[in-house]
Amino acid sequence: MRRPLVAGNWKMHGTRASVAELIKGLRQLVLPAGVEVAVMPPCLFIDQVVQGLDGKSIAIGAQNCAVEPAQGALTGEVAASQLADVGCSLVLVGHSERRQVLGESDEVVSRKFAAAQSCGLVPVLCVGETLAEREAGKTLEVVGRQLGSVIEELGVGAFSQAVVAYEPVWAIGTGLTAEPAQAQEVHAAIRAQLAAESAEIARGVRILYGGSVKAASAADLFGMPDIDGGLVGGASLNADEFGAICRAA
Ligand code: PGA
Repeated sequence: MRRPLVAGNWKMHGTRASVAELIKGLRQLVLPAGVEVAVMPPCLFIDQVVQGLDGKSIAIGAQNCAVEPAQGALTGEVAASQLADVGCSLVLVGHSERRQVLGESDEVVSRKFAAAQSCGLVPVLCVGETLAEREAGKTLEVVGRQLGSVIEELGVGAFSQAVVAYEPVWAIGTGLTAEPAQAQEVHAAIRAQLAAESAEIARGVRILYGGSVKAASAADLFGMPDIDGGLVGGASLNADEFGAICRAA
């Protein structure tokens, strides 16, 4: 059985004061024991969140890491080793906002994935198609390419300690959620692609859905056989809503 994971991606939101409020709300949540819960604050608040959630079983993740795992001369970047040092256990790689706005290539994403793992962090590999790609019938091709490039670079074995997040770009921050069956189709394809290399790894890997997940839509999505939890953006900024999503997993 795969243990569901619900991760809150706070994106570029927050101030010290609003983060303190959110920590207070998260501390009060009653979270289901069978679900792994994580939050991913902006880098500069990670320490505040690690301290603030001390003793609460919520893992801390980052939203990005540098291509080089070790600290060094790379202005403005944060190394996976530094994230591990301040208490992170997970890190997003290849979020669509970074692929699209910052031009991160599949090759860069693979390097970040490897950098994260070399420091003991679990990479959460984000994949997903744009609206134009979906309308052109290219969803499985695009997702297959994004996943395939990491499998090719690092081998399927890398997915024994990794998470995949399917996030259709057209559903992110738009209020449009993929229909559960629509998401399931892509999740099943992701698992099948991994299974073609290793049935065991495919069975164990958690594949999260992301894109406008709300408390109201979470249970139907998480009820699908290949959806193992969620990557939650906007709704994770509200502790009560986030808690409800965690309880739906
Ligand atoms: P959203 O973001 O839930 O606000 O759509 C999800 C994500 O980008 O991870």
